[in-house]
Amino acid sequence: MDKKTVDNKNVNKQYYPPVVAVLGHVDHGKTSLLDAIRKTNIAEREHGGITQKIGASEIEIMHDGKKRKITFIDTPGHEAFSHMRTRGVAAADIGLLVVSSVDGVMPQTKESIALLKNSKIPFIVVLTKSDDPNKLPDKAKQQLIKEKVLLEGYGGDVPFIEVSAKEGVNIKELLDLILLVFDLKNEANFYPFDANGAFMGIVIESKMDQRSGPRATVVIKNGKLKVRENIYSDRIKGKVRNMLSDIGKNLQEASVGEAVELLGFEKVPQVGSIVTNTPKELEALIYKDETKSLDPMDMFAEDQNMLSVVLCADTQGSIEAITNSMPEKVKFVIQKTGDIEVSDILFAKSIGAIVLGFNIKVKPEIVTLAKTEKVLIKTYNIIYEMIDEISDF
Ligand code: GDP
Repeated sequence: MDKKTVDNKNVNKQYYPPVVAVLGHVDHGKTSLLDAIRKTNIAEREHGGITQKIGASEIEIMHDGKKRKITFIDTPGHEAFSHMRTRGVAAADIGLLVVSSVDGVMPQTKESIALLKNSKIPFIVVLTKSDDPNKLPDKAKQQLIKEKVLLEGYGGDVPFIEVSAKEGVNIKELLDLILLVFDLKNEANFYPFDANGAFMGIVIESKMDQRSGPRATVVIKNGKLKVRENIYSDRIKGKVRNMLSDIGKNLQEASVGEAVELLGFEKVPQVGSIVTNTPKELEALIYKDETKSLDPMDMFAEDQNMLSVVLCADTQGSIEAITNSMPEKVKFVIQKTGDIEVSDILFAKSIGAIVLGFNIKVKPEIVTLAKTEKVLIKTYNIIYEMIDEISDF
């Protein structure tokens, strides 16, 4: 980890709770890890139990002799993560890339790596199931390095830790590592957030409740929000009627790094939308987002002349033929057989990729979604036509 020079004026920087998202392949231990983490909480909780109510949980631990909080987004699901940065702001400050030390890198691990790299947030590799006698952590590390996750001690600066959620091994150490990474980045002014600035939050979960109306879980990225304040999200207005903590406690006020559930929106805001307490702030943010160009040429410029592609084809044979003949500037972030799905569009959007279909049909709702999300889809039936066109991009 490279520690930049600490600016004197930042020595007293406020250390708000880091917001952490957990990503990884299904069954690699994300849920078990979050459960094990919640068990380390030292904060007094009513009824002594853990009664989590919203899509995020807050824990408190002793770190370096101080009480520190960490907020975990419980969403998992890559679709949710993709949504969470639709306006270019990541809901999380730090990512945990969960990789089973038994199974190693799997397809959704690769997807997670692409999402994390694109979100530009720092991340920690968590090798799970360290109690399993069949573990092969070194193999998993080699696979990660092959995927360009440059681990500490292997020529890179991505920290990693082996844990067992089952036996509670290295869980506290992982939490200390999260705070260490967060504090170093914070000292280096990596995070632009400010507890005293204008309020801004990101919706990480939302629903319509029959009895209480629209409910939205919001991660606060900047400033503070109080009950009875006006709230604005896209074209939806509201006024905070109730604000609930992760365990369903009524709050009067919440600040950066905290996740709260808000009641009082007139309609259900979409996951990934930004919430502010003044309409002007929101307009500024959305306007900035909409001015982003979708010209594929700009994508080259953004990612060191690479073009990120989500490829959906009819057969594995087609995939191989296509991936073997594409020019080097094309990076396949997903390659799969089958139709283009909603998650492919959202994933492509989140990392600035285009979607290529080969010998498949595209459903009208996918075309509509791609249009609204401004994702470019192109389909072909002849391989060399696809190669030619993409080579000329
Ligand atoms: P998720 O799909 O990523 O949320 O994975 P889960 O947390 O549901 O875990 C998938 C499976 O791995 C379950 O059968 C867990 O019991 C098992 N598992 C999770 N963590 C550990 C661990 O630390 N050690 C062992 N031996 N098994 C684990």
